[in-house]
Amino acid sequence: MTGLDTLRSPLSFLRSRVRHIPHCNTLDAEEGWWSNEGVAISDAIDRAGTPWLRMFDRFGKRGDEILYPREYQTILRRGYRSGVVWRAQEENSLIPAYLLMYTISFYDPGICCPYTVSLGTAVPLAKYGSAELQDRFLAQLLRKDDTVWQGATWMTEIKGGSDLGAAVETIARPGGDGWLLTGDKYFASNVGAELAVVAARPDGAATGVRGLALFLVPRYRKDGALNYFVRRLKDKIATRSVPTGEVELKDSEGYLLGSADSGIYLILEVLNLSRVSNSIVSVALAQRAMAGALSYAEHRIAFGKRILDQPLLRHQFENRLNALRSAFALAWHSVQLLNEVWMERPPYSERYHMFRLVAHLAKYWTAEFAVDTAKWAMEVHGGLGVLAEYRAERWFREAMILAIWEGTSHRQILDGFEVMERKRAHRMLFQRLMEITPSKALQDMESEVERHFKLPPEQREALAEPVFRKLAALTADTLACESKWDDKKT
Ligand SMILES: Cc1cc2nc3c(=O)[nH]c(=O)nc-3n(C[C@H](O)[C@H](O)[C@H](O)COP(=O)(O)OP(=O)(O)OC[C@H]3O[C@@H](n4cnc5c(N)ncnc54)[C@H](O)[C@@H]3O)c2cc1C
Repeated sequence: MTGLDTLRSPLSFLRSRVRHIPHCNTLDAEEGWWSNEGVAISDAIDRAGTPWLRMFDRFGKRGDEILYPREYQTILRRGYRSGVVWRAQEENSLIPAYLLMYTISFYDPGICCPYTVSLGTAVPLAKYGSAELQDRFLAQLLRKDDTVWQGATWMTEIKGGSDLGAAVETIARPGGDGWLLTGDKYFASNVGAELAVVAARPDGAATGVRGLALFLVPRYRKDGALNYFVRRLKDKIATRSVPTGEVELKDSEGYLLGSADSGIYLILEVLNLSRVSNSIVSVALAQRAMAGALSYAEHRIAFGKRILDQPLLRHQFENRLNALRSAFALAWHSVQLLNEVWMERPPYSERYHMFRLVAHLAKYWTAEFAVDTAKWAMEVHGGLGVLAEYRAERWFREAMILAIWEGTSHRQILDGFEVMERKRAHRMLFQRLMEITPSKALQDMESEVERHFKLPPEQREALAEPVFRKLAALTADTLACESKWDDKKT
C-alpha cells in the first residue's frame, strides 16, 4: 500500500502511525459499518435532518423534547456501545476512546461532540463526585446498551467563552440537598442530555475564574420535573446532527463536584479532555478531506492526464500527507500524555503542565491544519468543491467549528504561552523532543521562546502567534520522526 492509499481508510492510517492498537476488531467493525451504512445517514442529516425542539406537548405541558431523525439514534448509540465512554472507566485508559473517535469522525466529525462531552461528564463525576453522587448517576453514563445516558459540558454564556471569569453570571446558592443554579448558558451542545457539568459561581464567591465551581446538573429534578429549560436550538453551519441550544437554569438542582475553591481546575480538566478530542477529530477530518480529494484527482483528467499525475498537484499531495502525519503525531502525543496524567489532581506534576502545553499546541495546530486542508481539498475539486451536492464543502464547514469551539486559536496561543511562562512547561517538552532527534532547530526554537518572554507584556501578546505556530510545527514534525519506521511499511 502506498502512503497515499492509507488516506482512504481511518484504520489503515492509524495502523501506519500507532504501534499497538487495542481492539482492532471493534475499529474494523466501526469502519465497515460507517462506510457501508453510516455515511449515507450522516449526509442526509447534514443536509436535511438536523434536530428540532418541541417545547410543549399538545396539552401545554413543557417538555423541551429534542426530536431527531430515527437514524440519528442508530449512528449515535453505536459509538456508545462500542465504548467511547465505558471503556475509559473499565479499562482505565483513554486510548480506546480516542481511537474510536478517530475512526468515527473520519465519517462524521460532529458525532464525536456528544461522545466527548459525555466523557467530559463521566470523568469528573468518577474523579470528584461524592460516593452518593456516583451511586446515583455514574452507572447510567457507563451503560453498554442503548439506554446509556448522555452528558454535556456547559460553560459559555452570552458575554463570551474566552473570558469565563468575567462572563459566567450563573449563580449557585445552597438549596435542596445540594445547590440551586440560576443563569443562562448560550452555547449548550448535546442539549437534552440526562446530565451536564456546568460552570457557575457560588453566591458570594470571588470574582474572576477563581470563584467558579463545577456542578453536576441532571435533566430532571428529584420530583421528576424538568430541571433545565431549552430556549431554542441554534442553526449552525456544521455539526448539524448535534443539538446545540440555549439553556435556562432556574433554581436548577445541582451538585458540587470537588470543592468550590478548586472549581477552575475541574473546568480546565473538562476542557482539556475536549481539546484532545478536538485534535483527534481535526486530523481525522483532514484525512477525510484528503481522501475525497485523492479519489477525485485519480479520475479527473486535465491536459491529457489525471490531475493527480500533474507534478504540482502530486507534490502537494505528498507534502500534505507528511503534514497530516505530523499533525497526527502531535494529536496522538496529546492523547498519550493525557492518558498518563488524567487521574492527577491539583497541585499537578510537571508532566501535567507539559501535557497542558502539548494540548494547546495540538488544539491550535490540528484545527488550523484541518481548515487549511479542507480548503485545499475544495480547490482540488475545482468548481465542484463548492457545490452542496458533494461532500468537499461539508468538510470546510465542519473544520471551521473545530477551530472555534473548545477555545479559539487565540486562546490556545495565549494559554500555551501562559503555561510556558508560569510553569516552564516548554523545558520538559524540549527535553523530550531532543531525545527523539537532537537538532539545532530545536535549540534555536528554545532560545526564541526564552527571548519572547523578555519582550514587554503588550508586545509579547501581540507577537505570540508566529512563535507559537513555529513551535507547534516543529513539535509536530519532531514527534512524527518517532513513527518514521511505519512510513517504510506503507
Ligand atoms: C457549534 C458550537 C457549539 C458549542 N458548544 C459549546 C458547549 O457545549 N459548551 C460550552 O461551554 N461552549 C460551547 N461553545 C462555545 C465555544 O466554546 C465558544 O464559542 C468559544 O470558546 C469562543 O467564545 P465566544 O464565541 O464567546 O467568543 P469570544 O470569547 O467573545 O471571543 C471573540 C473573539 O475574540 C478573541 N479573543 C478573546 N480574547 C482574546 C485575547 N485576549 N486576545 C486575542 N483575542 C481574543 C477570540 O479568540 C475570538 O476570536 C460552542 C460553540 C460553537 C460554535
